[in-house]
Amino acid sequence: MKYHILDKKNLDSFIKSLARRMKVVGPVKKSGKNYVFKEVKTADEMSLKYIPTILPPKKYLMPEREKILDLKFESDGIKEEAFIENEKIAIFGVHTCDLSGIQCLNIVFNDKPVDKNFLMRKENVFIVGLECNSYCDEYASCGLVNSYMPNGGFDLFFTDLGDKFIINVNTQDGEELVESLKLPPATPKEMSELDKLRDEKRKIFKNEINVDPHKIPQMFDKVYESKLWEEVGNKCLSCGNCTNVCPTCYCFDVDEKISLDMSSSERIRSWDSCQFETFAKVAGGENFRKERGLRQRHRVYRKFKFPQDKYNRFFCTGCGRCSRTCMAGINLKDILVKVAEESKI
Ligand code: SF4
Ligand code: SF4
Repeated sequence: MKYHILDKKNLDSFIKSLARRMKVVGPVKKSGKNYVFKEVKTADEMSLKYIPTILPPKKYLMPEREKILDLKFESDGIKEEAFIENEKIAIFGVHTCDLSGIQCLNIVFNDKPVDKNFLMRKENVFIVGLECNSYCDEYASCGLVNSYMPNGGFDLFFTDLGDKFIINVNTQDGEELVESLKLPPATPKEMSELDKLRDEKRKIFKNEINVDPHKIPQMFDKVYESKLWEEVGNKCLSCGNCTNVCPTCYCFDVDEKISLDMSSSERIRSWDSCQFETFAKVAGGENFRKERGLRQRHRVYRKFKFPQDKYNRFFCTGCGRCSRTCMAGINLKDILVKVAEESKI
């Protein structure tokens, strides 16, 4: 593994030289404790000590709304043209929880049938990770799901070492950038500073729920019929905010927008939410998850049980966004504590 050094005073020239190559987005303060990823041209536009942004960087890989197909109805038949809006983009300052979220989306969209729109965007994204040296807030559970340490999924990864960043180079693209900027390699002293920082982090980032993560799928086997889901459902407003902000939620709906003269149509896909009443409604009027409690159960099982069975990983990155945003005060960590208590595992 290669490590290089960037003096903090040179961060601005790093961002500017990246911006000459492609559009750069990074974490920017919006108001109070709210941060968003948005386009930046200089380093001082960014807030590098940020708690998870309102929306995760998935919005650049799977936009909230996108055209996927143009259709023309002509006398000799229907002509289809796939449409992928796409540009080269660098996402700077992605925390490890959000890197983990992108890895989850990557797994799902590489599964058959592959999602060409996601894959093409992913191909064009240059990802610069940024280490959290300390805890963001009480909603995070990255200790539980072990997403607080870098585990791939980036081109470059920055760790703050005081007056400099140590940069882990993970891809050919990352290496080319670092070489073009002539960033010096890290010295053994700087490498041991990084090791020390990671040792300190292991002491700070504790498992927040105090359950063995390996036992979580077993716990969920025991609580499928629990009253807990009805209790959570009684509070839930079915607004869908929790799934919109989740870095691993990927459900979408597809709409046809047909022109008035019926000569053409655009196929649009947009984010959907399993928390909406109509989500599991099928032809004939049957609704498999009409009650809010059933929909909440589904959401939580889709994070901790079903993806474990299918992909052998949690689809919760511990970012805390769902709890941070919930107007009804539904807190994922509280749900997990109750699941642990009830399952008695
Ligand atoms: S954000 Fe809260 S109220 Fe809205 S759907 Fe999710 S759990 Fe329910
Ligand atoms: S379920 Fe909540 S804490 Fe887990 S990844 Fe989604 S938004 Fe983050």
